[in-house]
Formats: sequence, structure tokens, C-alpha cells
Amino acid sequence: MSHLISKFKIIAILAIGFFGPVHTNAQLNPSTEKRIDDLLKTMSLEEKIGQMAQITLDVLGKSAQGQLFQINDSILNDVIVKYKVGSVLNTSDNKAMSLPQWNSMVQKIQQAALSNRLKIPVIYGFDAIHGATYVAGATLFPQQIGLGATWNKAIVSRAAQINAYESKATSVHWNFSPVLDLGSNPLWPRLWETFGEDPHLVSAMGVATIKGYQGQQLGDQQIVGCLKHFLAYSDPKFGKDRTNAWIPEHYLREYHLPSFKAAIDAGARTVMVNSALINGVPTHMNGYLLNDLLKKELKFSGLVVTDWQDIDNLFKRDNVAADRKEAIMFAINAGIDMAMIPYDYQIFCNTLKELVREKKVTEARINDAVKRILRVKFEAGVFSNPVNNYQKYPDFGSATFEAAAYDAAAESITLLKNENGILPLSTNKKILVTGPNANSMRTLNGGWTYSWQGEKTDMFATKYSTILKAMEAQFGAAQISFVQGVAYKMQGKYYEDSVVDLNAVQQAATQADCILLCLGENSYTEKPGDLNDLNLSPNQILLAQTAIASGKPVILILNEGRPRIISNLEKQMAAIVQTYLPGNFGGVALADVLYGKVNPSGKLPYSYPRYVNALTGYLHKYSDEQVNPQGAYDYSADYNPQYDFGFGLSYTSFSYTGLEVNDNLSPTDTLRVSVKVKNTGLRAGKEVVKLFVSDQVASLAPDVRRLRGFEKIELQPGEEQRVSFSIPLRELAFVNLKNQSVIEKGKFTVAVEQLKKVFSVNANKVF
Ligand code: BGC
Repeated sequence: MSHLISKFKIIAILAIGFFGPVHTNAQLNPSTEKRIDDLLKTMSLEEKIGQMAQITLDVLGKSAQGQLFQINDSILNDVIVKYKVGSVLNTSDNKAMSLPQWNSMVQKIQQAALSNRLKIPVIYGFDAIHGATYVAGATLFPQQIGLGATWNKAIVSRAAQINAYESKATSVHWNFSPVLDLGSNPLWPRLWETFGEDPHLVSAMGVATIKGYQGQQLGDQQIVGCLKHFLAYSDPKFGKDRTNAWIPEHYLREYHLPSFKAAIDAGARTVMVNSALINGVPTHMNGYLLNDLLKKELKFSGLVVTDWQDIDNLFKRDNVAADRKEAIMFAINAGIDMAMIPYDYQIFCNTLKELVREKKVTEARINDAVKRILRVKFEAGVFSNPVNNYQKYPDFGSATFEAAAYDAAAESITLLKNENGILPLSTNKKILVTGPNANSMRTLNGGWTYSWQGEKTDMFATKYSTILKAMEAQFGAAQISFVQGVAYKMQGKYYEDSVVDLNAVQQAATQADCILLCLGENSYTEKPGDLNDLNLSPNQILLAQTAIASGKPVILILNEGRPRIISNLEKQMAAIVQTYLPGNFGGVALADVLYGKVNPSGKLPYSYPRYVNALTGYLHKYSDEQVNPQGAYDYSADYNPQYDFGFGLSYTSFSYTGLEVNDNLSPTDTLRVSVKVKNTGLRAGKEVVKLFVSDQVASLAPDVRRLRGFEKIELQPGEEQRVSFSIPLRELAFVNLKNQSVIEKGKFTVAVEQLKKVFSVNANKVF
């Protein structure tokens, strides 16, 4: 107890400084709570409701043709002074701005807020998804799916730290990141925004990100993160963005909840709600998920923000509310603290006031929401430092930060096939580079890059190298020829690809020793990325067939946000390299892998499907494999992905021996596993040691295997290391039909690569 008290005192002392410490969600800081209560007592209903409103920047002004964004003073006055709106989001004109622009814009907004009676500053938020994406000159990392593929927590944490520093240079205090949804449905267009398919991997990377954003103590180099999109946004039944998911509660808890829980336990302060529906209930009115599960059960004490315009969706899209008033009532009563309105602030504020007066929303609910918002504002340092001087951020866009982004890209790149060791390429080879992704910074970065859909990237990223430019720099321009073959072009509302010059590809191939075929997807974000066919586009397949027909070895480079089907091409490829969306340094990192300067160590953070009608991922049951079909019919479910979750080759080889596992455990014990890993090849290399556990028999059909631990290590040729894991058995529990987390006595199999060992648990336990 005395230990607890002294710890408490230290936290309280720290809180007297400019910024609040990062609390766990379970423990609040008494001095901050007192400031919040004192402030709350002085607030009028209008002032409270204003805090709950968030508008998009474009409401406040516009840019005349070719001019910088200008805030309109009378609108600013109406929004911030009259309606007392407490939060603003987004960039202007859907385009990145410079640091000085950001600073002067935020300053103007804060001046208006601080001119109000209570001087409550605005909390500004934006989507710095893979670096400070809306800031010209910021350091851009691989998208989350690439970060997941590094399987390297230190790299992910460092990326988040740099992101926080650079975002904070703009005076923005709040980053709508990380995405902690599971990337388990390859149809879903936001798969690339996730860390991958597995709850353990996503949890580990989510915690690493929150630690990187928020640090030990939120200060002027840290930023408040936002976990999104609570809950199970990523797994709509039909794969289209913002559509209904059919998921029973025990599966929500088993697969989708752990990453959010882990990040909340690590101190995450804000959560954004799933824009879609689960089991027919729009999440924005799901009081069970928001009030009961998130706020009560998980003890989340930060703020819950809606996604874009999602209160309106309750009546405009989902037909569950008769009108906007009812929609606002449902959402606020379900536990929404702040509405990303983002345009009609007057209607939102006036309507919510009416609802309170009519007692359809209680003042207690309003007070709870405002307390949470003020808490985050205090902790984030918005009160003490509403505006930062960007000149105090000399490392913004520095070579050191860029080196970290390069390292992340290099560690994400995943070698999927390397027939006869064709890679690394010998230096004297003549290489034909072709494909729609060969000469585009846009495709390397994906969406949320300088704009929402990433369509302006080639304008902002001129100083970085596309794959083509990086190949020329690495191998010498004389060795490289380029014919695009297929190009992305605007067709109607969207970019599609079309054939440009296949004859020229044929011609050029005759002069080349091998072909670097760069295929994949153009950038997209959210709904515009919905698709009807997971195959690579017909034009890209045509280009691939042209390359194959030349008879020259073809190296397929995949640059895509989700795994597009390649099974009809795979056999004819000499090598295949997955780059995901590696960011501004992806071109150079790839050229370094192809040249042999970098030994690839990325591993797939998802299963790569082989067929469009066989999307079974690695999280599945024995019935989904049916290894021993019986009888007249072949009942085989044909579980046969193109590449398994966690797969990735190296230029060296590793052997695994000496697996040791403790046995006869009680449910409160810790599983201890260790294994020897040796680099048996001739090059230094990094290896991801992955520990899988399978529950042999359980009352609910167990998953065939589950990732329970991983470690990335580096070994010199001939070097051997013993890698150890300690896993409290409660982490092996599953969620039963009563939604309890349980471990059942019996046998479990531990697998590390080809090695397996069995251990037993001697009792049942509900955790
Ligand atoms: C997206 C969110 C994002 C928000 C704010 C929404 O459309 O779903 O992920 O944070 O916009 O830009």
C-alpha cells in the first residue's frame, strides 16, 4: 500500500508540470481531475456542448485559386466563439500544408478559442497514418501493413516517435492512428491500414505505436494516439467498406478486442468508433460496446470520438433513426463523447441542447463526455502549450529520421519466391523495368499521403526515388531500360489501369537479361477502394503474360495494399517480392534488396490467398482444412493459401533445434519456451522466431494454431542463439459461449517452425 501511495505522489508531482503523464486507464490523476471538476462547474450547457463538437478545417475558410488556405474571420468567430466548438480536424483543400502554414493556422484558431470566457483551447486532430501525412516535407514510413511485415517492435515504436515529433511541430495534438482492426479480410479496402491478420501481432504493434506516440510522459514531442475503429470494422461479411459484419460476441472478444484492450492498458487516451454495423447494429449507437464494454469493462477513461459524419449515418444510411435529432440522441446516449460532425455544427449543437432540455439526454451524460474531453486536453498539454513553435523542431524531415523510414521499408520487404537463387541479381544484368507501379511515388505510398486518396503524391514527393529511379541509381542507368506497359489513368470517377504499349515491352524484352515486373494497385482509401474482383486487373495480367512470353526470367514486384490473386502467374515467375506500401524510401529499399545490399527479412502479416473463392485465413478451425476427407465425395475444404501467414524467405538459411517447453502447468503458471536458432547460410540475416500454440481439445472448436509470441533477431553466418518466451497461461485462454475467457485442462502443442512439443494444463480456470 505504501508503495502505491508513493507511486501516486510521484505521478501527482509530475502532473503539476506542463503536461500530464500517461496514466493507465484504470488510474486517474487527482490533480488533473480536480482541475477538470473545477472547470466543469463553471461551464454553461452551450460551453459543454461546444466541447463535444468537432468540425473539419474546410468549414473555417478556403483557398482562392492558387493561394494558401485563408481562415474566414466571421466563420471562425461563429464556430469557435459563438458555438464554442472544441475540436477541429483535417488539412485544408485535401492537401498537405507546410509547417509555417500549419502553425499560423492553428495559432489563429487557438487565439479565437482562448479569447472565450473560459479559455479552453481547441484540440486539433489529423490522420498522420504513416508519418505526418498532411505536412509537406514530413518523413513518410511504410503504411501499417508494411510495418506489420517488419515484425520488429522497435522499428514500429521508432516510427511512431518520429511521427509524433513531426506531427507536433505543426501544433496538432491528436493523431487518428493507429488502426487496430484485424487485417483478416483481403476484400476489405483498408487492409493496408492494419498491422495484419493476427490478434497477437496487431496487439504488439499497437502497444509499440502507442508507446512511441505518447512516450512515458506526454510532452511537446509526443502526441495523443487514437485507437480505431472500435470494434470489428475490418471484417464486413461482404467485404465492402462500412458495411455490416456478422460476428457473435465471443468472436468479437476472442479476435477483435485484444488489440484494443492491450493498447488501452498501455495508456491510449482516445478511441474512434467503427463507421459500420455489427450484427445489424450501427456501432455509433451501440451502447453495449461503447458504454458497457469499452468504458466500464475496459475502464477506458479517455474520449470516444465518432468517425466522419457517422451520427448522420444513423438516419441517412442505416434507417435506425427517424431524423438527425433521434440520431444524435442515440449516439450520445450510447457513449459518444465527441462528434466528428464535421460540417453542420450549428444543427448539432442546437439539437443536442434541445435534447438536454427535453431530458432525452441527461446532463450527467454531457458532463461525463466533457470531463473525458477536458481530461485528454489537459493530459495532451493543449492547455499549457496550445501552439508549438515549429522552429523548435530542427529534426523535422532530417536525414536521421529518413534513415529510420528507410530501415522500416527495408525490413518490411518480403521475399516470396526466389527460384534458383536468381536474387540478388548479378550486377552486369540488363534489366527491363515495366509495369504501372514501376515509376510512381503514389503507388509506393498508398492512400493518406499528402491527401486523402494519395493522388497528389507525385507532386509532393519529387525528391524521392520511384522503383525505376532507384534501380537506375543502384545498377547504373545503362543497365536499365523502361517501358511502362500498363498505366493508371483517371476513368470516370476512379483511376483504372489501361494498356499503353505492350509491343514496346515485347521489343525491349529481347534486349534484356531479365524483367522487373512491377504490378499491384494504385492508391485508394476507404470506399473508393472497394472492389469486385481480387484478381490482379486484366490489363496487368496481360502485361505479365507478355513478360512471361519473352522467355526472359521475370521478377514480380508486388506493390499493393491487399493481396491480389497471382496464382495464374506465380509458377512462371523466377522471383516474387512483396513491397506492400513501403513509403517514400520503398524504391531505394527494394533496389537494395534486389542488389543484395539488404538481406530481406519481412514476413507476411496476413495469409496470401491463392483463389478468389478461397479466402480462409490463418485464423481457422480444423473443419476449414479437412485433411482426411472420407466417403464418395471429397469434402476437402482445400485450405491451400498461396503463402502462409508469417511466410518470407531470406538470402541466408536458418535452422531450428533444441525446442524446450515446461510441462504440467496450472492455469496461473507461465509457459516457458526456448529454441535454438542458427544462421546456416553465408550471409548475415534477420529472422523472425514465431511461436504458435494449439489447444488440442476444447469445448469450443479450437483454432488450428495461434501466434502467441515472436521475436526478431539478427545472426551472423554460423551464429547460433537461444530465444526464450515467457507467456502467462491466461494469454492462451479462449472466449467461450458465455463470453468468459477460459483455459481448459488438457494438452497443448507448441510449434516453432518444424519443431513441436506438447505440454499439459492440469485444471480449468475462468479468468
Ligand atoms: C476514416 C477515419 C479517419 C476520419 C478522419 C474517416 O473517413 O474512416 O479513419 O480518421 O475519416 O479523417
